[in-house]
Amino acid sequence: MGRGRELRGFMNMRLSIKAACRGKRGTSGLIPRRIAPIRRGLRQQNRQLARKIQLFGTSRCLDAKRKVIERRRAGLAVYDFGLGEAKGGINGEFAEAGKQSLAAGRTEYVDPQGLLELRRQIISWLGVERNYGPQNVCVSVGAKQAIFNILLAICDPGDTVLYDAAPWVSYIPMTYCAGLIPQCVSPKYPEANYLKISSSDLERAINRHRNARIFLLNSPCNPSGQIYSAGELNELIEVCIRNRIFFALDRLYWKTVFDGYSFPEPVINEVSEPWIIQIDGLSKNWRSLGGLRVGWSVGSEDLTRAATNIQSHITSGTATVGQYVALEALTKEYDWEMRDDLQEKRDLMFSVANDIPGLKAFPTAAAFYSFWDVRAYFGSHAPNGKLIAGSDDLAEYLLNSAGVVVLPGTAFKQEGYLRLCFHTAKSEIQEGMLAVRAAIEDLC
Ligand code: PLP
Repeated sequence: MGRGRELRGFMNMRLSIKAACRGKRGTSGLIPRRIAPIRRGLRQQNRQLARKIQLFGTSRCLDAKRKVIERRRAGLAVYDFGLGEAKGGINGEFAEAGKQSLAAGRTEYVDPQGLLELRRQIISWLGVERNYGPQNVCVSVGAKQAIFNILLAICDPGDTVLYDAAPWVSYIPMTYCAGLIPQCVSPKYPEANYLKISSSDLERAINRHRNARIFLLNSPCNPSGQIYSAGELNELIEVCIRNRIFFALDRLYWKTVFDGYSFPEPVINEVSEPWIIQIDGLSKNWRSLGGLRVGWSVGSEDLTRAATNIQSHITSGTATVGQYVALEALTKEYDWEMRDDLQEKRDLMFSVANDIPGLKAFPTAAAFYSFWDVRAYFGSHAPNGKLIAGSDDLAEYLLNSAGVVVLPGTAFKQEGYLRLCFHTAKSEIQEGMLAVRAAIEDLC
């Protein structure tokens, strides 16, 4: 609304209030009933939330969990392939470490950068002792805050942040919250490499967006389940350094790599060290620790100081109890049981999915997601006549007709796909896949 019209509207409303009050003054100290709505209107007329809030909705992953809870409460069938949560009950020793920290009253504020002993342990957990020390680590409220700190620490409002082709759901909302502009790098041959981008794709995007300040790569990737090889990773880093942009690597799923492979470490040396930041955390590599909200970033000292400065004003760091649990988890020898269990579940879901006519599942190399190309079903109709025009319609149809919770590709800027998390019981995968198959066979 233009200033003039806004002002006229405001004056008109004042006049209506005056008219409504005429003759009423002195009858009571209360606002006459017919005036109250006008007053409310007056208050709300110039009331506006930030425009950026209209650019995104609440996290679709967390919404999926809400749907599961609602359906279970209502006694409806539900097969939960929605939220990417490392399920399965907390390790007893980790729980004990949390209890002990509470019992010992270790609940005071601590260094906003995180407990020194935890930061030391993070360095050895990542095996980066040669390049970094505890001064390079900032412990945050989940990996989410570590990423947000980095966006704020590196960029000024209006700068551009580059993401890969299928960005994880919260990257873009965070970018808008920080007053920045998100851009996804499109692969020249999306099908050939399961949406992974090459160094020439990145170079093209950088040339197009000259005010890009960071390229954030998620490898292993949520949602596509792909992982960048050491060669691919280091080529992308080289492109960033050559173009003077930061390279942020979200490696949150780095312990869940299948088929005998392991996570390829980025090369850190004198040249690359100032430009690389790595993000990791507790949520995905151990069972049931996501709610503790512990994540961390590791990078150059000045950037770590800036991230700590920012979070010291926003959250003061993450809860002390969670940090003691993290310390226990990182100190213990890593148990590969969950990775091995997930590999079997991956195989189970992949074999059933690829047997469903028209469906093409990506081979999952890492993380715990099966990413399905479902474009063959677009244009078909549900038994009630509803058109399946895209992945949102298909996800809604699977939920309503079969109780199957999945995320549509649109949540990851990739129309044409569905994401299914297979971090659940084998029986749920078996039964859920039968339900998916039946629902898809009902499409006409
Ligand atoms: N990055 C990726 C790729 C994720 O999948 C998630 C959570 O799903 C996060 C970051 C956020 O992790 P956290 O729960 O530790 O904040």
